[in-house]
Amino acid sequence: MSITAAFDIGGSKIEYARVGRDGTVSHRATLPTPHTRWADFRDAVASLVAADGGGATRIGISIAGTTDSATGIAQAANVPAVNGRHLENELSAALGVPVRVGNDADCFALAEATVGAGHGMPIVFGAILGTGVGGGLVIGGRMVRGAHGVTGEWGHGPIVAEAVAARGIPVIRCGCGQTGCLDSYGSARGMERIHAALRRRNPHQPRDHGGLARRRRGRRNGRSRPSSS
Ligand SMILES: [Zn+2]
Repeated sequence: MSITAAFDIGGSKIEYARVGRDGTVSHRATLPTPHTRWADFRDAVASLVAADGGGATRIGISIAGTTDSATGIAQAANVPAVNGRHLENELSAALGVPVRVGNDADCFALAEATVGAGHGMPIVFGAILGTGVGGGLVIGGRMVRGAHGVTGEWGHGPIVAEAVAARGIPVIRCGCGQTGCLDSYGSARGMERIHAALRRRNPHQPRDHGGLARRRRGRRNGRSRPSSS
């Protein structure tokens, strides 16, 4: 019997599940992601497989990072423990079963195209708005990775620099090396940056809702809402 063990690995946690041939998910488990040491990361993955009986015959991993299509070497900004590692080869050697690794946005798009909202559609684009702005493109049921695996990464193009500069928001240099990427503004991190920039521009605006704070003060001082008693 074949057992597929599936992992979704992000900057904060490793999620495990067993996936049946019909797409059913069972045996869920979670561990915090070890960030810095490769051995800790490898052992965390192995422990989740072992906790499920150790019978996995193949392993699929979706990770918040990229693997070079030519060399297979991983790069993950939020999981530096895997940087410079050939994840498929090294985890396969450690666990004794075939391992396939994909970018999490690509895996999300492929899953939606196969068994989700895009099932049966000829072209599916999966868009993620989370810690970062990511995405993946599936055409005819097959993942399109493109040169250097960046197809579908709509968060990285210098498309919003002029628009944000015109509104007095600083133009931010993105972690990818470009300037003014959508990822720098439209992601959760980006919104925090915009908030911080606006706070610096209007430092005297109250932190909480001004009107609400005034109403509360008014009630305490007996100036609002006449009492019925
Ligand atoms: Zn970028």
